[in-house]
Amino acid sequence: MDGEYRWDPISDRWVIIAPGRAARPDHFQEGVMARQIVAPCPFCRGHEAQTPQPVAVYPPGAAEWQVRVVPNLFPAVAMEWSSAGPSSSAVRPAVGVHEVIIEAPHHVVSLAQLSDEQVSWTFASYRDRLAELGRDSRLAYGAIFKNARAGGGASLEHVHSQLIATAQTPESIAQEMRRLMDHWQARQRCLLCELLAAEVQQSRRVVLDRDGFVAFCPFASRFPYETWLVPQAHAADFTAATPSQLESCGWLMRDLIRRLEASLPEPAYNFWLHTVPFHRRDGAAFHWHFELAPRLTRLAGFELGSGSFINPVSPEKAAQVLRQVR
Ligand SMILES: [Zn+2]
Ligand SMILES: [Zn+2]
Repeated sequence: MDGEYRWDPISDRWVIIAPGRAARPDHFQEGVMARQIVAPCPFCRGHEAQTPQPVAVYPPGAAEWQVRVVPNLFPAVAMEWSSAGPSSSAVRPAVGVHEVIIEAPHHVVSLAQLSDEQVSWTFASYRDRLAELGRDSRLAYGAIFKNARAGGGASLEHVHSQLIATAQTPESIAQEMRRLMDHWQARQRCLLCELLAAEVQQSRRVVLDRDGFVAFCPFASRFPYETWLVPQAHAADFTAATPSQLESCGWLMRDLIRRLEASLPEPAYNFWLHTVPFHRRDGAAFHWHFELAPRLTRLAGFELGSGSFINPVSPEKAAQVLRQVR
């Protein structure tokens, strides 16, 4: 297949799919990073004194924790400001909350290594913390994300994810919100629901379709093996998901990561949640979902300078590889 430009309707973004540069998974050997050994690990059970007091522990009230949420020791944003802080049209205080979700008491590096229970508590903690922070009128958005392995930006290898809630809605979320609202107004339908129905019907880019969720490699994937995990029934707000939906979502995410790890050598990866911003009563057009991307290629001058992405693996090929994992 020759290279081609492809457009993603959700983000209004173009990418270049350029297969042939690295068509097979084993061309990504450079994705393997040396393991960092941090001893003693502050996230392991028994070292709780090395992190701040938890804001939530799971299972609630249990003597031995499985999942623990703590404030980040080195926050990117903070609620308290020592002075009035900077303020002009171009500078504002970075107000917000930065938390770490420690997903297991023992030292493992990937969500694929977690028990059913740990995955369920992890996804329940995402919902609980977003619901809690979403009541604060100073905060506009809560970003849940995971950096796994050094190449994914993880500074500690112990399995964890993070939550950064900010007073400003990130531009990519605001843009997605505008796209979905415009479409809803024009067509009285959700753009992502339409896209999902078309993907399921076509099936070439679908990886999983079960338990009320569809996982597919988007037509205009920015990254090799990029996969979106989307609830099939329209829903704007992740915090409104039922316990059984959260459990299915978590277990399917673990299955997707297991498939990545079976297809690629110890891949670094990121995933992140897109959900409706806090306090948006007009946000019914949004459709929450997770986006998962292994970090196989580095962002380089073209991506940074143009904002466009070149993806060397077609999403059709990626979905075929991931589907075949047993
Ligand atoms: Zn550890
Ligand atoms: Zn929808």
